[in-house]
Amino acid sequence: FKVPQPVNEPVKSYAPGSPERKELQQTYQNLKNQQLDVPMYIGHEEVRSGNKQPLTMPHDHQHILGYFHEGDASHVTRAIDAALAAREQWANMPWQSRAAIFLKAADLLAGPWRATLNAATMLGQSKNAYQAEIDSACEMIDFLRFNAKYMTEIYAQQPESSPGVWNRLEHRPLEGFVFALTPFNFTAIAGNLPAAPAMMGNVVVWKPAYTQIFAAQFLMQLFRAAGLPDGVINLIYVDGPVAGDVIFSHRQFAGIHFTGSTAVFNNIWKTIGNNLHLYRGYPRIVGETGGKDFIVAHPSAEAKEVATGITRGAFEYQGQKCSAASRAYIPANLWPEVKQAIVDDLKTFKMGSPEDFGNFINAVIDEKSFNKITKYLEAAKNDPEVEVIAGGNFDKSVGYFIEPTVLLVKDPTYVTMCEEIFGPVITIYVYEESQFENILEVINTTSPYALTGSIFSRDRYAIDLATSKLLHAAGNFYINDKPTGAVVGQQPFGGARASGTNDKAGSVFNLIRWTSTRTIKETF
Ligand code: NAD
Repeated sequence: FKVPQPVNEPVKSYAPGSPERKELQQTYQNLKNQQLDVPMYIGHEEVRSGNKQPLTMPHDHQHILGYFHEGDASHVTRAIDAALAAREQWANMPWQSRAAIFLKAADLLAGPWRATLNAATMLGQSKNAYQAEIDSACEMIDFLRFNAKYMTEIYAQQPESSPGVWNRLEHRPLEGFVFALTPFNFTAIAGNLPAAPAMMGNVVVWKPAYTQIFAAQFLMQLFRAAGLPDGVINLIYVDGPVAGDVIFSHRQFAGIHFTGSTAVFNNIWKTIGNNLHLYRGYPRIVGETGGKDFIVAHPSAEAKEVATGITRGAFEYQGQKCSAASRAYIPANLWPEVKQAIVDDLKTFKMGSPEDFGNFINAVIDEKSFNKITKYLEAAKNDPEVEVIAGGNFDKSVGYFIEPTVLLVKDPTYVTMCEEIFGPVITIYVYEESQFENILEVINTTSPYALTGSIFSRDRYAIDLATSKLLHAAGNFYINDKPTGAVVGQQPFGGARASGTNDKAGSVFNLIRWTSTRTIKETF
């Protein structure tokens, strides 16, 4: 069993004057002014409910990109019915044919669809060109190509036999349909959550976050252009709880592939638990959730490397990455140099629309998010125990802009050291050099999350101590690097504790969750 050997998609730089930059700028302008009418995709139909809702840009919220057709409970039922109608033929399709469809989607995305997906992510989610490229092009392509390889590994798993007995494993899809419930912040995650179960022969109902619909609908078109049969993935725009009511009380509900906040996942888990008697089996529950990701520097660390880890790790995509560094622990001997380097670095970060490729910082996703983040900032600014080292200003008159903000606290349990803010804010605590081991304990116990974390050190004993003391504090642990930017196939991604079920997106561990294996023993 072999598929084309995957290699990570090279990241384009979009250098000034390059043909790819011109194409991306042109596509951005075209999409910005097209006023798209965006249907749901259910079975073979493009469904227009007539209940049109505006698609806006976070960096210019009065500009309307188009309208999507919002659905209601009846559309959820239609999507489930369409999925179940497609199920038998799709589940029985040779896995090579299923893989071929998604490998073709990857090739289309690497070529003619690349600029469209990148521009849509820049417009709808306010990502700069580079962040859009690593997300909606490279990571999405990698998910599809590496998952095809992991399919071969799963289907190749067979047991031993003995003379007169032939044992076999049949890696069946789940019995029923899978619900993909996807977040706003990564186009690639939104695409992978329905694609991964579908690749394993499952049929899917996909509900994206409303703030990500603009790019999601292009992903759906891409899958169709690659030959995905009708009904295998059904894309609906329905309010979360309304969709949940129908999905989680359906007898054929077989699993959920979720990425989003811990609070929403907790509710979903409880609902599924309460409704167990309604289902045919135990649904697969795969969820990647929130984070409170840390950077800890040892006294032996290089101050400039630590500062770069902080500014890049905390502020790429305005801190709206589940892996974004949002708390840092710096020893007193390094602090003056780290602080200066952070302040100098932040002076080079321009803020504004992604339309200007020079803007590193764009807007946060929507007003709700803006209000949540700035509430933390207001409280911090009014607290005499908190010092604002950089940033702290915000303005929502045109777009939801918040300056990259660095807070310094005296108390390592201060609220912004513990809770997920999901914005461009990092809080720093400076510790006495002799207290390194104690600070590891503080990191381990002051937040319920365990997604990503970094140690910066030149001392191997310190690295080993942190690696063992923080055993369960992060699902992705980085040594001398920022805690963001996991690459499919290289750093399987996911966290434990309140950060999710740790089924490692972009790995065979995730894909295997979308099978239910039958063992066959045949005696001759
Ligand atoms: P969210 O939880 O608000 O939304 C996720 C999805 O759930 C959306 O489609 C939303 O419409 C839906 N939803 C919301 N309330 C619902 C309800 N009551 N019933 C059913 N569905 C509901 O998350 P978000 O704001 O889109 O994304 C940000 C969050 O995602 C952050 O917490 C971040 O840490 C997390 N995240 C985690 C990872 C990871 O790999 N661990 C990756 C990306 C994002």
